[in-house]
Amino acid sequence: MSDQPTSITRRGLCLVLAAPSGAGKSAITRALLDADPTLLLSISVTTRAPRPYEIDGVHYHFRTQAEFDAMVAAGQMLEWAGVFGRSYGSPRAPVEAAMAEGRDVVFDIDWQGYRQVRAALPGDVVGLFIMPPSLVELEARLRARASDSEAEILRRMATATAEISHVREFDYVLVNHELPTAVAEAQAVLTTARLAMSRQTGLEAFTGHLSGAPLAS
Ligand code: 5GP
Repeated sequence: MSDQPTSITRRGLCLVLAAPSGAGKSAITRALLDADPTLLLSISVTTRAPRPYEIDGVHYHFRTQAEFDAMVAAGQMLEWAGVFGRSYGSPRAPVEAAMAEGRDVVFDIDWQGYRQVRAALPGDVVGLFIMPPSLVELEARLRARASDSEAEILRRMATATAEISHVREFDYVLVNHELPTAVAEAQAVLTTARLAMSRQTGLEAFTGHLSGAPLAS
């Protein structure tokens, strides 16, 4: 009796958070990770320079363009894209290892990366788009960050409208008026995605010990 499952084994999933830069995506991602130690963050590789507070291997893997290109050529990227004139990509190996263990992975990437991850792992990807309350508010948030130059802020504002134009490609959308509510909504999306019937690979083993009868399909 002791070897009977007490929970349902399921496939891991990839939760992709996308948003215009400054919409609060990183803060929401951090809150999701803090609340659930089983979640794994996909740490991206980038060719952009670190911001003062950023740590190599924690926020990003900071690499030269040549190193980045070598990873792409070796097939080590699950997806990659050019954003703001720099290269960004998600390393493949940690994601595949986590999925194999039934763990969930959170991605903080743009719409181009989302499309590629969705194509690479069909059925395993859930897309959540985070909207800022307004473009005026978005610009204020970008300026409050202060570590980016004026040219960088203007470039990010111009890209924001383009990013928003892809919102319909995502499964869920929320507006980040205030962080605690946005975090609660993102957690609700994650919980719902985890409970999807299509992910419950251990359903037969679980119900079998309850009823002894096979499930109808
Ligand atoms: P930032 O330079 O502000 O950290 O990120 C700029 C943009 O690049 C954000 O929209 C971010 O989500 C996106 N980004 C970060 N990492 C990746 C990645 O690995 N792949 C893709 N496609 N986009 C990424």
